[in-house]
Amino acid sequence: MSAMNLPTVLIVDDERINRTALAELLKDECRVVLAKDGVSALQRVAEERISLILLDASMPDMDGYEVLRRLKSNEKTVNIGVIFVTGQIEEAHEERGLLLGAVDYIAKPVRPLLVKARVRNHLELARQREELERLSMQDALTGISNRRAFNQAFMRACGNTVRTGTPLGLAMIDVDYFKRFNDFYGHGAGDDVLRRVAQTLGKAAQRPYDMIARYGGEEFVLMLPSSIALQTVLDRLCEAVQALGIPHEQSEVSPMLTISCGGVVAGYDSAKRPEWLLERCDEILYQAKNTGRNRAIVHDLN
Ligand SMILES: [Mg+2]
Repeated sequence: MSAMNLPTVLIVDDERINRTALAELLKDECRVVLAKDGVSALQRVAEERISLILLDASMPDMDGYEVLRRLKSNEKTVNIGVIFVTGQIEEAHEERGLLLGAVDYIAKPVRPLLVKARVRNHLELARQREELERLSMQDALTGISNRRAFNQAFMRACGNTVRTGTPLGLAMIDVDYFKRFNDFYGHGAGDDVLRRVAQTLGKAAQRPYDMIARYGGEEFVLMLPSSIALQTVLDRLCEAVQALGIPHEQSEVSPMLTISCGGVVAGYDSAKRPEWLLERCDEILYQAKNTGRNRAIVHDLN
Protein backbone atom coordinates (compact mmCIF):
# COMPACT_ATOMS: atom_id res chain seq x y z
CA MET A 1 0.00 0.00 0.00
CA SER A 2 1.44 3.41 -0.91
CA ALA A 3 1.62 6.20 1.66
CA MET A 4 -1.17 7.99 -0.21
CA ASN A 5 -3.61 5.16 0.48
CA LEU A 6 -2.78 4.74 4.14
CA PRO A 7 -5.45 5.94 6.55
CA THR A 8 -4.56 8.99 8.63
CA VAL A 9 -4.41 8.80 12.42
CA LEU A 10 -4.30 11.96 14.51
CA ILE A 11 -2.36 11.77 17.78
CA VAL A 12 -3.30 14.43 20.31
CA ASP A 13 -1.18 14.81 23.43
CA ASP A 14 0.20 17.83 25.25
CA GLU A 15 3.49 16.04 26.03
CA ARG A 16 5.93 15.73 23.17
CA ILE A 17 7.43 12.49 24.46
CA ASN A 18 4.02 10.78 24.35
CA ARG A 19 3.29 12.07 20.85
CA THR A 20 6.65 10.88 19.57
CA ALA A 21 6.37 7.46 21.20
CA LEU A 22 2.90 6.79 19.75
CA ALA A 23 3.91 8.11 16.33
CA GLU A 24 6.94 5.82 16.26
CA LEU A 25 4.77 2.89 17.29
CA LEU A 26 2.17 3.45 14.58
CA LYS A 27 4.28 4.66 11.68
CA ASP A 28 3.92 1.37 9.75
CA GLU A 29 0.16 1.09 10.27
CA CYS A 30 -0.92 4.50 9.06
CA ARG A 31 -0.02 8.06 8.18
CA VAL A 32 0.41 9.92 11.46
CA VAL A 33 -0.34 13.58 12.13
CA LEU A 34 0.23 15.24 15.49
CA ALA A 35 -1.45 17.92 17.59
CA LYS A 36 -0.25 19.26 20.92
CA ASP A 37 -3.54 20.67 22.18
CA GLY A 38 -7.30 20.56 21.69
CA VAL A 39 -7.57 23.63 19.50
CA SER A 40 -4.98 22.46 16.97
CA ALA A 41 -6.52 18.96 17.05
CA LEU A 42 -9.93 20.34 16.01
CA GLN A 43 -8.20 22.39 13.33
CA ARG A 44 -6.43 19.33 11.88
CA VAL A 45 -9.73 17.44 11.82
CA ALA A 46 -11.41 20.28 9.93
CA GLU A 47 -8.57 20.43 7.40
CA GLU A 48 -8.01 16.81 6.48
CA ARG A 49 -9.55 13.41 6.31
CA ILE A 50 -8.80 11.69 9.61
CA SER A 51 -9.79 8.04 10.09
CA LEU A 52 -8.97 7.66 13.79
CA ILE A 53 -7.90 9.87 16.70
CA LEU A 54 -5.78 8.91 19.70
CA LEU A 55 -6.80 11.52 22.21
CA ASP A 56 -5.07 12.36 25.47
CA ALA A 57 -7.71 12.91 28.15
CA SER A 58 -5.63 15.22 30.31
CA MET A 59 -4.43 18.42 28.64
CA PRO A 60 -4.31 22.04 29.84
CA ASP A 61 -6.87 24.57 28.50
CA MET A 62 -9.13 22.25 26.48
CA ASP A 63 -9.02 18.69 27.81
CA GLY A 64 -9.74 15.51 25.87
CA TYR A 65 -13.34 15.31 27.10
CA GLU A 66 -14.10 18.72 25.68
CA VAL A 67 -12.40 17.87 22.37
CA LEU A 68 -14.48 14.68 22.20
CA ARG A 69 -17.69 16.56 23.02
CA ARG A 70 -17.01 19.01 20.18
CA LEU A 71 -16.18 16.24 17.71
CA LYS A 72 -19.44 14.45 18.55
CA SER A 73 -21.58 17.58 18.23
CA ASN A 74 -20.40 18.31 14.68
CA GLU A 75 -22.02 16.23 11.92
CA LYS A 76 -18.79 16.32 9.89
CA THR A 77 -16.72 14.75 12.65
CA VAL A 78 -19.27 12.71 14.61
CA ASN A 79 -18.29 9.44 12.90
CA ILE A 80 -14.53 9.67 13.41
CA GLY A 81 -13.41 6.98 15.85
CA VAL A 82 -11.72 8.30 18.98
CA ILE A 83 -9.53 6.19 21.28
CA PHE A 84 -9.01 7.82 24.65
CA VAL A 85 -5.45 7.64 25.96
CA THR A 86 -5.09 8.48 29.62
CA GLY A 87 -3.20 8.07 32.82
CA GLN A 88 -6.36 8.33 34.88
CA ILE A 89 -7.02 4.67 35.38
CA GLU A 90 -10.11 5.05 37.53
CA GLU A 91 -13.15 3.41 36.05
CA ALA A 92 -15.15 6.63 36.25
CA HIS A 93 -12.87 8.27 33.69
CA GLU A 94 -13.08 5.34 31.35
CA GLU A 95 -16.86 5.40 31.64
CA ARG A 96 -17.01 9.13 31.01
CA GLY A 97 -14.97 8.82 27.82
CA LEU A 98 -17.02 5.94 26.49
CA LEU A 99 -20.30 7.67 27.35
CA LEU A 100 -19.15 10.72 25.40
CA GLY A 101 -18.67 8.47 22.37
CA ALA A 102 -15.06 7.23 22.45
CA VAL A 103 -14.76 3.86 20.70
CA ASP A 104 -12.02 2.56 22.97
CA TYR A 105 -9.75 3.33 25.86
CA ILE A 106 -6.00 2.90 26.39
CA ALA A 107 -4.34 3.45 29.77
CA LYS A 108 -0.89 5.00 30.17
CA PRO A 109 1.79 3.83 30.30
CA VAL A 110 0.77 2.35 26.97
CA ARG A 111 1.60 -1.26 26.06
CA PRO A 112 2.92 -1.11 22.48
CA LEU A 113 1.42 -4.35 21.16
CA LEU A 114 -1.97 -3.55 22.64
CA VAL A 115 -1.97 -0.07 21.10
CA LYS A 116 -1.00 -1.45 17.70
CA ALA A 117 -3.70 -4.13 17.81
CA ARG A 118 -6.44 -1.71 18.87
CA VAL A 119 -5.47 0.87 16.27
CA ARG A 120 -5.44 -1.81 13.59
CA ASN A 121 -8.91 -3.04 14.62
CA HIS A 122 -10.41 0.41 14.68
CA LEU A 123 -8.86 1.38 11.35
CA GLU A 124 -10.46 -1.71 9.83
CA LEU A 125 -13.82 -0.71 11.31
CA ALA A 126 -13.36 2.82 9.96
CA ARG A 127 -12.57 1.42 6.51
CA GLN A 128 -15.73 -0.70 6.57
CA ARG A 129 -17.81 2.26 7.76
CA GLU A 130 -16.45 4.46 4.95
CA GLU A 131 -17.14 1.74 2.38
CA LEU A 132 -20.74 1.33 3.61
CA GLU A 133 -21.21 5.08 3.55
CA ARG A 134 -19.97 5.19 -0.04
CA LEU A 135 -22.21 2.30 -1.12
CA SER A 136 -25.26 3.83 0.54
CA MET A 137 -24.82 6.88 -1.71
CA GLN A 138 -24.29 4.97 -4.94
CA ASP A 139 -26.76 3.60 -7.48
CA ALA A 140 -25.98 -0.09 -7.77
CA LEU A 141 -26.85 -0.41 -11.47
CA THR A 142 -25.06 2.60 -12.94
CA GLY A 143 -22.42 3.37 -10.31
CA ILE A 144 -23.35 7.06 -10.24
CA SER A 145 -24.86 8.83 -7.20
CA ASN A 146 -28.28 7.68 -6.04
CA ARG A 147 -31.31 9.73 -5.06
CA ARG A 148 -30.29 9.83 -1.41
CA ALA A 149 -26.91 11.33 -2.27
CA PHE A 150 -28.59 13.78 -4.63
CA ASN A 151 -31.11 14.93 -2.02
CA GLN A 152 -28.34 15.74 0.44
CA ALA A 153 -26.21 17.57 -2.12
CA PHE A 154 -29.25 19.39 -3.51
CA MET A 155 -30.30 20.73 -0.09
CA ARG A 156 -26.74 21.98 0.49
CA ALA A 157 -26.60 23.58 -2.97
CA CYS A 158 -29.96 25.33 -2.47
CA GLY A 159 -28.74 26.62 0.90
CA ASN A 160 -25.64 27.95 -0.78
CA THR A 161 -27.65 29.73 -3.49
CA VAL A 162 -29.91 31.30 -0.86
CA ARG A 163 -26.84 32.53 1.06
CA THR A 164 -24.74 33.73 -1.86
CA GLY A 165 -27.20 34.32 -4.73
CA THR A 166 -25.08 32.23 -7.11
CA PRO A 167 -27.34 30.58 -9.69
CA LEU A 168 -28.09 26.87 -9.50
CA GLY A 169 -28.72 24.78 -12.61
CA LEU A 170 -31.00 21.78 -12.13
CA ALA A 171 -32.40 19.37 -14.72
CA MET A 172 -34.48 16.21 -14.90
CA ILE A 173 -33.41 13.93 -17.73
CA ASP A 174 -35.44 11.01 -19.05
CA VAL A 175 -34.73 8.33 -21.66
CA ASP A 176 -37.27 8.56 -24.49
CA TYR A 177 -39.56 5.55 -24.98
CA PHE A 178 -37.57 3.54 -22.47
CA LYS A 179 -40.45 1.20 -21.61
CA ARG A 180 -40.79 0.30 -25.28
CA PHE A 181 -37.01 -0.25 -25.45
CA ASN A 182 -37.14 -2.64 -22.48
CA ASP A 183 -40.13 -4.51 -23.87
CA PHE A 184 -38.54 -4.87 -27.30
CA TYR A 185 -34.84 -5.48 -26.49
CA GLY A 186 -35.19 -7.00 -23.01
CA HIS A 187 -34.26 -5.82 -19.52
CA GLY A 188 -30.59 -6.75 -19.85
CA ALA A 189 -30.25 -4.41 -22.82
CA GLY A 190 -32.29 -1.82 -20.91
CA ASP A 191 -29.88 -1.97 -17.95
CA ASP A 192 -26.94 -1.65 -20.29
CA VAL A 193 -28.49 1.46 -21.84
CA LEU A 194 -28.98 3.05 -18.43
CA ARG A 195 -25.31 2.45 -17.64
CA ARG A 196 -24.15 3.98 -20.92
CA VAL A 197 -26.48 6.96 -20.62
CA ALA A 198 -25.35 7.53 -17.01
CA GLN A 199 -21.72 7.50 -18.13
CA THR A 200 -22.42 9.99 -20.92
CA LEU A 201 -24.38 12.33 -18.65
CA GLY A 202 -21.59 12.12 -16.08
CA LYS A 203 -19.26 13.94 -18.46
CA ALA A 204 -21.31 17.08 -17.90
CA ALA A 205 -20.78 16.95 -14.13
CA GLN A 206 -17.03 17.36 -13.72
CA ARG A 207 -16.57 20.22 -11.25
CA PRO A 208 -16.40 19.46 -7.50
CA TYR A 209 -20.03 20.37 -6.69
CA ASP A 210 -21.63 19.20 -9.94
CA MET A 211 -23.68 16.07 -9.64
CA ILE A 212 -25.36 13.54 -11.88
CA ALA A 213 -27.60 11.06 -10.08
CA ARG A 214 -30.08 8.36 -10.92
CA TYR A 215 -33.38 9.69 -9.67
CA GLY A 216 -35.39 6.54 -10.32
CA GLY A 217 -36.12 4.16 -13.20
CA GLU A 218 -34.88 5.78 -16.40
CA GLU A 219 -34.86 9.26 -14.86
CA PHE A 220 -31.66 11.14 -14.03
CA VAL A 221 -31.06 14.46 -12.33
CA LEU A 222 -28.22 16.86 -13.12
CA MET A 223 -27.16 19.63 -10.78
CA LEU A 224 -24.72 22.34 -11.82
CA PRO A 225 -24.11 24.95 -9.10
CA SER A 226 -23.09 28.43 -10.25
CA SER A 227 -23.74 27.56 -13.88
CA ILE A 228 -25.99 29.61 -16.13
CA ALA A 229 -25.13 27.65 -19.28
CA LEU A 230 -27.60 24.85 -18.49
CA GLN A 231 -29.38 25.04 -21.86
CA THR A 232 -26.11 24.62 -23.76
CA VAL A 233 -25.02 21.73 -21.52
CA LEU A 234 -28.35 19.92 -21.94
CA ASP A 235 -28.42 20.46 -25.72
CA ARG A 236 -24.98 18.84 -25.89
CA LEU A 237 -26.11 15.94 -23.73
CA CYS A 238 -29.06 15.30 -26.05
CA GLU A 239 -26.62 15.20 -28.97
CA ALA A 240 -24.12 13.04 -27.08
CA VAL A 241 -26.70 10.40 -26.14
CA GLN A 242 -28.03 10.23 -29.71
CA ALA A 243 -24.42 9.97 -30.91
CA LEU A 244 -23.97 6.81 -28.84
CA GLY A 245 -25.86 5.27 -31.73
CA ILE A 246 -27.91 2.81 -29.69
CA PRO A 247 -30.59 1.49 -32.08
CA HIS A 248 -34.16 2.02 -30.86
CA GLU A 249 -36.59 0.64 -33.42
CA GLN A 250 -39.60 1.40 -31.26
CA SER A 251 -38.85 5.11 -30.86
CA GLU A 252 -41.04 7.57 -32.72
CA VAL A 253 -38.46 10.37 -32.63
CA SER A 254 -35.27 8.84 -33.88
CA PRO A 255 -33.87 5.49 -35.04
CA MET A 256 -31.35 5.92 -32.20
CA LEU A 257 -32.00 6.15 -28.47
CA THR A 258 -32.57 9.74 -27.25
CA ILE A 259 -33.25 11.69 -24.07
CA SER A 260 -35.47 14.62 -23.06
CA CYS A 261 -34.51 17.22 -20.48
CA GLY A 262 -36.40 19.77 -18.39
CA GLY A 263 -34.38 22.25 -16.38
CA VAL A 264 -34.36 25.44 -14.39
CA VAL A 265 -31.71 27.94 -13.43
CA ALA A 266 -32.65 28.89 -9.88
CA GLY A 267 -31.67 32.05 -8.06
CA TYR A 268 -31.81 33.50 -4.58
CA ASP A 269 -35.61 33.41 -4.25
CA SER A 270 -36.49 30.18 -6.01
CA ALA A 271 -33.75 28.23 -4.19
CA LYS A 272 -35.74 28.75 -1.00
CA ARG A 273 -38.18 26.17 -2.36
CA PRO A 274 -36.19 23.04 -3.31
CA GLU A 275 -39.26 20.78 -3.64
CA TRP A 276 -40.91 23.27 -5.93
CA LEU A 277 -37.78 23.44 -8.12
CA LEU A 278 -37.92 19.68 -8.62
CA GLU A 279 -41.62 19.88 -9.49
CA ARG A 280 -40.88 22.66 -11.99
CA CYS A 281 -38.20 20.50 -13.64
CA ASP A 282 -40.70 17.64 -13.87
CA GLU A 283 -43.30 19.89 -15.52
CA ILE A 284 -40.76 21.25 -17.98
CA LEU A 285 -39.58 17.73 -18.77
CA TYR A 286 -43.19 16.80 -19.48
CA GLN A 287 -43.37 19.79 -21.80
CA ALA A 288 -40.21 18.57 -23.61
CA LYS A 289 -41.84 15.16 -24.00
CA ASN A 290 -45.07 16.66 -25.32
CA THR A 291 -43.37 18.88 -27.86
CA GLY A 292 -41.53 16.04 -29.61
CA ARG A 293 -38.89 14.61 -27.21
CA ASN A 294 -35.12 14.49 -27.94
CA ARG A 295 -34.83 18.05 -26.70
CA ALA A 296 -34.02 20.19 -23.68
CA ILE A 297 -36.14 23.02 -22.34
CA VAL A 298 -34.80 25.33 -19.64
CA HIS A 299 -36.63 28.05 -17.71
CA ASP A 300 -34.57 30.81 -16.18
CA LEU A 301 -35.91 31.57 -12.70
CA ASN A 302 -32.80 33.45 -11.67
MG1 LIG B 1 -1.60 14.99 28.97
